Amino acid sequence: MPNPIEDLKKRKDGLDVLADIHRYAREGYESIDPDDFNLFKWYGLYEQKPKGGGHFMLRIKVHGGHYTATQLREVGLLANQYARGFGDITTRQAFQLHWLRIEDVPDIFSRLERVGLTTVGACGDIMRNVTNCPVAGCDRHEIFDAQPDVLRVSKHFLGNREYSNLPRKYKVSISACAVNCTFPQINCVAFVGVPHGPEGVAEEGYNIYIGGGLSTAPHFAKPVNIFATRDQVLDYAVAITEIYRDHGGRDRRTRARLKFLMDDWGPEKFREEIAARVPFEPYPASGHPLREAHHDHLGIHPQKQDGKCYIGVTVKIGRITGDQMLGAADIAERYGSGRLANTISQNFIVFDIPEERVEEAAAELRALGFDIGETTVKSDCVVCTGKEFCNLAVTETKGLMSEVISYLEQNVTWDRRIRVHMTGCPNNCGQQVISDIGLQGASTKIEGREVECYDFHVGGGLGEDASFVRKIARRIAAEDVKLGVANIVRAYQQTRSNGESFRDWTRRYSDEELAQMIGVVDVKVKYGAQAGS
Ligand code: SF4
Repeated sequence: MPNPIEDLKKRKDGLDVLADIHRYAREGYESIDPDDFNLFKWYGLYEQKPKGGGHFMLRIKVHGGHYTATQLREVGLLANQYARGFGDITTRQAFQLHWLRIEDVPDIFSRLERVGLTTVGACGDIMRNVTNCPVAGCDRHEIFDAQPDVLRVSKHFLGNREYSNLPRKYKVSISACAVNCTFPQINCVAFVGVPHGPEGVAEEGYNIYIGGGLSTAPHFAKPVNIFATRDQVLDYAVAITEIYRDHGGRDRRTRARLKFLMDDWGPEKFREEIAARVPFEPYPASGHPLREAHHDHLGIHPQKQDGKCYIGVTVKIGRITGDQMLGAADIAERYGSGRLANTISQNFIVFDIPEERVEEAAAELRALGFDIGETTVKSDCVVCTGKEFCNLAVTETKGLMSEVISYLEQNVTWDRRIRVHMTGCPNNCGQQVISDIGLQGASTKIEGREVECYDFHVGGGLGEDASFVRKIARRIAAEDVKLGVANIVRAYQQTRSNGESFRDWTRRYSDEELAQMIGVVDVKVKYGAQAGS
């Protein structure tokens, strides 16, 4: 079957579009060759909704999520100058700016480069931002600090033309977080830190998982029974990426992710192919179980460095203003060492604050409009871009999630973590399929009018007993979503047993029983009933 994007990539490598971006910036939006819009992604640039409207979204990579106050300040200045005063933190620890014009891009690129940030490979058929635990190097419970390994891998692949034409997007996580906060199982390739290898191998390293990914056909990554020492990580990353480049499907974009090659081959064959490409005999996996991902390190915590603390700061719906970025950069420098990091759940961390000043720093962060707390509604709610800027979206998401959060804050006691994720279409950028409560945007026609609604899911989670969500109700009107979430959370709180997680609790009930508990109905039934009353 012809695949126009593959044809395009054969004619021109995505990395070759940079000179054209600069030319278009001089000659204007109208001069852009339509094919090049696709290749712009290799430099993090996406045409934002509506296509043809002349505005772009730009994704800025942050290796492992870790950055400096100087870098944040530059992103904040760019947001204020070019992006209508705000940016988003993504679920891969990157930043996104919106409302950019092609004329703005050269200045943005050069200013990002000056502070050591890049957009190369932030989107496109290439290795995306490599994720890591945001508190790597500081967390008292971490297995080890994986950030040096993240940087080694990121630098090797950055702008590397050997790997700039992969079949599709390619997501890698390298982390030795004690609570698996990077969600390793939903990555194409995950290096999961363990304290030692199999029997007789005392070195730190990683068990390798391959073939995860969400989108419309969600898969959990499978273990391939390989333990990589830290020295071996780059060799393995190269081998697996080459396997994907050489054997990944290229006929259909919808079947091109690494997860489908895992479906075809299975872990055994993958292991054999990897072993044939690395210059040593692979060790078997270490036997450590995969821990469930619990949280993303929010709140105030002592660091492994004596006398120092970090603050995990909640960013409502992942959206942060340019002024908040400038303020947070200033606080990170005045109270800490100027180091910060973004989390997978669209929040951020400020490091190295002396214990005796941590409350003062937290107060300043709160004054900027951020929340600080380990269990808050805001910190548990994750949402994708939605109709505001995304060309694929069926529903508006950020505004609705904001309403849901406000409603829950006022009407429900949030005493335990319940992850509520919302996506504006089945592509799952907001990861609803692995959430406790997952809301997926849909639309339906009522009396000839398109009405936005949400399919309601529960019971997703990661770890050894990972599960995707179960759909319990369809087409809940957007305005009823907050009621549905509040009702099922209250039902959980009233009937849970001691220490029972939300996911475990949902397992006790049938889909029909859970649908009853949300207490809101299909929008067609709702409007039909109203019309008939
Ligand atoms: Fe766009 Fe859909 Fe992804 Fe949301 S999930 S950002 S609507 S493609």
